[in-house]
Amino acid sequence: MDEIKKKAKALGQTCIKHRRYFHQNAETGFDVEKTTAYIWAQLQTLGYAPKRVGKNGITAEIGTGKTLLFRADIDGLPVREKTGLPFACKTGNMHACGHDMHTAILLGVAELLKGCEDKLTRKIRLLFQPAEELLLGAKDCIEHGVLDGVKGAVTLHVLTATPLPVGTVIIAEGESAPSADYFTISVKGKSCHGAVPQNGVDALAIGARILLALDSVIAKETPVSSRAVLTVGKMEGGSAGNVIAGETTLQGTLRCFGEPTRAFIKKRIEKISRSTANAFQGKARFFISSGCPSLVNDGGMVEFAMRALQRGYDKEKTVLSSALGDGEKERNGGSEDFAYIAREVPSVMLALCAGEKDKGFAYPLHHPKVDFDENALWQGVACFCALALEK
Ligand SMILES: [Zn+2]
Ligand SMILES: [Zn+2]
Repeated sequence: MDEIKKKAKALGQTCIKHRRYFHQNAETGFDVEKTTAYIWAQLQTLGYAPKRVGKNGITAEIGTGKTLLFRADIDGLPVREKTGLPFACKTGNMHACGHDMHTAILLGVAELLKGCEDKLTRKIRLLFQPAEELLLGAKDCIEHGVLDGVKGAVTLHVLTATPLPVGTVIIAEGESAPSADYFTISVKGKSCHGAVPQNGVDALAIGARILLALDSVIAKETPVSSRAVLTVGKMEGGSAGNVIAGETTLQGTLRCFGEPTRAFIKKRIEKISRSTANAFQGKARFFISSGCPSLVNDGGMVEFAMRALQRGYDKEKTVLSSALGDGEKERNGGSEDFAYIAREVPSVMLALCAGEKDKGFAYPLHHPKVDFDENALWQGVACFCALALEK
């Protein structure tokens, strides 16, 4: 059915215009006023009746029948852009994860579906979701009823710096993104003069021992079949070279595939922190500030997406990740808060190749120089619409 592709391609320039607006005006977290004002106005112009959901989310619906949710995340990152693009963002924020592409694609979907409403055999609920990068937006939308009546959900994430041609869609069976947890370990000791350390408890030294001990959790306690990464990226403590530090904090992130592994490692971080601090007469507290579960693609939804994309989008360009060669596998360890939605309703995430390494798209997601091939925009529109219009 080349008709969907033809219609999507005709929307290419419109999507580029949308994308560049979002890119130049990148906003972060829940503070996405400019972005949502633009989306709202576009949806109204297209004849939709947009609604607010939670803190700065937007939904709009089309068609009748079983409800399928299409979700785009709309937030950028606090990254200073260094692409040198004419539409680069100058505010200190950047769409370094390609959510500008996602938002433009979903507006393209809204436009295309308006033109063939009579052919829809289901209801499509579009969701423009903020605060994905904080791993808080999906949860907030769910708490405000965005999944009421929803039978299935789909999202799409662009990939760049890949060896695969633009427009290739990869679908993972089962787990497709790891869980994420952001944690803090705060160590309490006792400050005193650096010349009489016996009168104090050195929180800095305890922090250093905890930092090194944590390495052994992955190296010695996690089986080879469990994939996990434990990173401490920040450690702070002390005030002067001749004063014993009374407090130290360590901040880090844990990424895992599989809930049992996640629970086990969390427990071990807590135990190691407390025990190490106790052994050296200090105290440690471990807490998690935010996080999300691993994203599991539903078997039925994977089958549905494969069928719909092969028929309505492109047979050649639709691939299961298990069919890819080692050099083509796309797993960057990035987490995805769509996992909260996938935990509630059968869901699938599509990975859309949107930048070939050999063609100048060399930087990875979240990099200040990352860019995407705008040809992927209309192809993303075609993907969603193939699913919407599948019998
Ligand atoms: Zn990201
Ligand atoms: Zn992202």
